[in-house]
Amino acid sequence: MRIDLHVHTRISSPCSMIDPGDLIPWAKRAGLDGLCITEHEESLGAQVAWELGQREGFPIFRGMEVYTDAGDVLVFGIYEDPLHWITPIGELVKWVEAAGGLIIPAHPCRGSDDLHARYGEEPAELLMRSAVAVETLNGGSSPANNLLAERLRERYGLFAVGGSDAHYPMQLGRCYTDFEKPIADDLDLIRELRAGSYRAMAGNGAGLG
Ligand SMILES: [Zn+2]
Ligand SMILES: [Zn+2]
Repeated sequence: MRIDLHVHTRISSPCSMIDPGDLIPWAKRAGLDGLCITEHEESLGAQVAWELGQREGFPIFRGMEVYTDAGDVLVFGIYEDPLHWITPIGELVKWVEAAGGLIIPAHPCRGSDDLHARYGEEPAELLMRSAVAVETLNGGSSPANNLLAERLRERYGLFAVGGSDAHYPMQLGRCYTDFEKPIADDLDLIRELRAGSYRAMAGNGAGLG
């Protein structure tokens, strides 16, 4: 099942040009079987898109992208807004663990070769040791940055995911995650992300179909 795990809409991410109504047609055009909405710092967009998916019968999952003192982090299993603009990673880890969710560093090497040098040893270590997977294929990052993310992933023995980081409809599916098992809802997604039966993939996206 091909799921784009990193998508922004204009509901909650002012930097995105994607209307909720764009999501399903463009996801289908990109050959995706599902989407996970990961707005910056706000749960509303994912909720609105999830309701749309329920009505239209297309799998849409709820995540979030949270700014932390260890960089941007994809969060699963949290359905409320963060309390801070930049959440300390220690606080995020406790919050997500208490909720039964999980975290995945988003584009950990974008704009910087070395996560630890950029954010400091302690936050970077806590992030990497608390994560289940690393976003090694991020559609908004250079191939060189994605390669560095893959090396970081190897170093910690984590799983790899892909997400488009789409801010325009035609960017949907330019990277995605291919899950071996079907995923029905947010709990299933969390369970499968932990189980590790998936691969990070680079796609053509919706622009070429
Ligand atoms: Zn980001
Ligand atoms: Zn993003």
